[in-house]
Amino acid sequence: MWGRVLGWSLGRQGWRCEPWWWCGRVLGRWAQRRPGLPVAAVTAVVAGGAERRSPRREVDVAVLVERARGGEPRAVARLISLVEDASPALREVAAALAPHAGRARVIGLTGSPGVGKSTTTSAFVRALRERDLRVGVLAVDPSSPFSGGALLGDRVRMQDHATDRDVFIRSMASRGHLGGLAWATPQAVRVLDAAGCDVVLVETVGVGQAEVEVASMADTTLVLLAPGMGDGIQAAKAGILEVADVFVVNKADREGAEQTVRDLRYMLSLGGRHSAAGAWRPPILRTVASRAEGIDEVLAAVDEHAEWLTRTGELDRRRRARACAEIEAIALAALRDRIGDVHGSAALDAQAARVVAGETDPYTAADDLVATVTT
Ligand code: GDP
Repeated sequence: MWGRVLGWSLGRQGWRCEPWWWCGRVLGRWAQRRPGLPVAAVTAVVAGGAERRSPRREVDVAVLVERARGGEPRAVARLISLVEDASPALREVAAALAPHAGRARVIGLTGSPGVGKSTTTSAFVRALRERDLRVGVLAVDPSSPFSGGALLGDRVRMQDHATDRDVFIRSMASRGHLGGLAWATPQAVRVLDAAGCDVVLVETVGVGQAEVEVASMADTTLVLLAPGMGDGIQAAKAGILEVADVFVVNKADREGAEQTVRDLRYMLSLGGRHSAAGAWRPPILRTVASRAEGIDEVLAAVDEHAEWLTRTGELDRRRRARACAEIEAIALAALRDRIGDVHGSAALDAQAARVVAGETDPYTAADDLVATVTT
């Protein structure tokens, strides 16, 4: 039904030009002339863009999921685009993925910009590949309105892994809607999980509520800090101390690393979730990510935490809490949509008239309204 010839595609409404196809050609040529740049990565970026921007393409979800399970990068990219764009096929995708997910270990990596998250992630990927594990990376940027092909920088930093078929790297951004990432990220994790990733690393950029939200999606959360950035204080303010399972003081080759470790120890001694009896006490480890120093020790701490999660039943509790949050978010969004339909409607008008006439109070009227949208 659909054909594509030299950047023109034939659809139901006749021929149309596909600008992304042309961009892909131009960028591909440009990359080929630059020996330092991985052509595969650039092509993947463009492919991601093209996948995302061809809404008219029909989706055979079952085939896509099968191809993704076979480890085909384009199928994985396409599925993540579908969940990120909240495509009409989203429900079908979620249902098709459900039986294949729940196996991967999800590790969150968070910290303020410049602490070395991408460098650390890249070092982790290398170390995990040495263990022969398949790895997925989601670089989540709540502050950026762009995603997919736009965050070329992230991918270029990850270029060591660009040609490895057992590493999937994807950038995600909020695309302007608040809370958007909160539901899109767990779905994207599920795609990578179903694609056979043993470990999914979720890297978050920025400091604040979004970080805490994304951190709560992980089985184990690493909080990165670096000396001289006032990070400890920022972390305490943002509530990051509470979500950390392992603290990593990166850039330990720089002056002030010991002071950062001392500050952290002091802040942890002040109490919080970690001080309860039987609670996990987050270790504080030092790394020089740019030289891959300390990475094995961090992975050992992550393994120890995983073992603790299983032994105490905390893994199950965390995953259930995550599923609760996800179901709640989806249900509330559906409710909000329906209430949106009510805005300016006759039902709302009728309730308003009754409130003005003193026949009812606004709380009862609101209850009645909610009852009408939920039945
Ligand atoms: P992100 O913004 O948190 O992802 O940080 P990046 O991974 O992009 O790192 C920011 C800068 O810090 C880069 O120039 C890295 O090369 C550098 N960097 C990362 N880790 C280390 C480290 O352990 N020591 C030093 N001295 N520099 C590092």
